[in-house]
Amino acid sequence: MFRRVAIIGGGAAAATLLSELLERASPQPLQLDWFTGGGTPARGVAYGTTSERHLLNVRAASMSMFAGKPRGFLDFVQRDNPAIAGTDFLPRRRYGDYLEAEVARALQQGKVHGHHVNIIPFAVDALVPERDGVTVIHGEESHPADAAVLALGALPAQPLAGVGAAALASGRYVVDPWRLLANAGALQPPPRKVVVIGLGLTAVDVLLELSAQWPQAEFVAVSRHGRFPEAHLRAAAAPADDGAALVEAMRDAPEIRRWMRLLREAIALEGTEWRAVVDSLRPHLPSLWAELSPEQRARFMRHARWAWERVRHRMPPQIRETITALERDSRLQRQRGRVHAVDVDVAGATLQLTVGHAGATHLLDADLVIQTVGLDTDVRRNSHRLVSQLLTNAHIAPDPLGLGVQADTDGHLQHGEQYWPNLFAIGSLLRGTLWESTAMPEIRQQARHLADQLLSD
Ligand SMILES: Cc1cc2nc3c(=O)[nH]c(=O)nc-3n(C[C@H](O)[C@H](O)[C@H](O)COP(=O)(O)OP(=O)(O)OC[C@H]3O[C@@H](n4cnc5c(N)ncnc54)[C@H](O)[C@@H]3O)c2cc1C
Repeated sequence: MFRRVAIIGGGAAAATLLSELLERASPQPLQLDWFTGGGTPARGVAYGTTSERHLLNVRAASMSMFAGKPRGFLDFVQRDNPAIAGTDFLPRRRYGDYLEAEVARALQQGKVHGHHVNIIPFAVDALVPERDGVTVIHGEESHPADAAVLALGALPAQPLAGVGAAALASGRYVVDPWRLLANAGALQPPPRKVVVIGLGLTAVDVLLELSAQWPQAEFVAVSRHGRFPEAHLRAAAAPADDGAALVEAMRDAPEIRRWMRLLREAIALEGTEWRAVVDSLRPHLPSLWAELSPEQRARFMRHARWAWERVRHRMPPQIRETITALERDSRLQRQRGRVHAVDVDVAGATLQLTVGHAGATHLLDADLVIQTVGLDTDVRRNSHRLVSQLLTNAHIAPDPLGLGVQADTDGHLQHGEQYWPNLFAIGSLLRGTLWESTAMPEIRQQARHLADQLLSD
């Protein structure tokens, strides 16, 4: 077993792994160094929001932190309000409360087992992995560990290619929407014409929050396909079956074009219950992804990724209604297109976007442009200090499709032709290995499995 473990990251993945470890009695007590990177430990980006408008996109009954306690979150919220149902979509803020409460409980439980936890509210700057240990460096300090786990979540968003230096310097082009949402009230005067680039779940959060905070503002949302994610049904769709027949058929020949056809056929049979078909694939996705050749994975990324994301990561129905109302009231307009450039206009007063669609380009003016193009996991073009150091020193290798880092299915990170025995990742950085690796239902399984490995002889 690894007795001294460094957990690097302050979000839900790190909190879940920490809690899994502390819950267990081990032959020797653990020494855990938890580097949280600042901010409130456990909440991370997703559950750090204070807005009641930001809802979980997974039903309460499926949001437990622990694979071994499936009702965990539901029990937590029902203690205060027994009327809450497992099918409800609750505020993410409430999930942050749950994460914090569970970590506090696990810290107590860890004491009973004799484990020691050192919570270090700093970002790790560098790691030096060797076969018999890992040195963790932040600032002038270095900490020895037997093993280290990267739980870094998504990487800091980078501006899209084509965004001019003047646009960035103007402060009117927002790369990190979460920072803006936390301080939107401070922006005076509030912008009137806002362009949002992207139409995923982050765009939905941004539109919900800012349309309420800036009642005079009008929004244009631009994306290549011009479509929002699908919505969940009010009641959970009962799974038609366990998806075994579909998965078997997919395994017969792992080709994306064929898989899409099989999926379309299965969905056509289920009609309005297509969601159940998509959901039935979820537990099988890591093994299906593993069967795809690099060429087929690249094909998926080119042709099927966005369609998959739209049906797989859905929004709660009440949020769909709010978005529909914004469109009905002409406060929100959707456009198809690709943003080629963003510049400050000649007068310096507004930003101007050049948007291409169907072989033509048009211009869009905006007081404020907000980039919401999804999770960034491309370590090759990122400014994250620790990730850059690890890449520069060839301690890790980038996934060729920009989906995090190369690793095996147990989370061991790859360097050269080998895997580190003592350097792991959990969560978004493993997308290249597992594909679906960002949401709690996947992360809690990974945390349990990783805790088993860290403690095994
Ligand atoms: C807006 C949003 C809504 C979501 N909603 C849901 C949902 O409803 N249900 C669901 O299951 N999933 C949801 N997700 C997916 C979500 O990513 C996971 O549920 C979970 O929050 C991921 O946690 P994480 O710890 O991997 O990443 P993060 O929450 O991003 O945490 C990463 C942490 O690592 C820290 N860090 C980074 N670098 C360093 C360093 N060098 N040293 C130390 N610390 C560092 C960061 O500061 C951050 O605290 C949502 C995601 C987003 C972005």
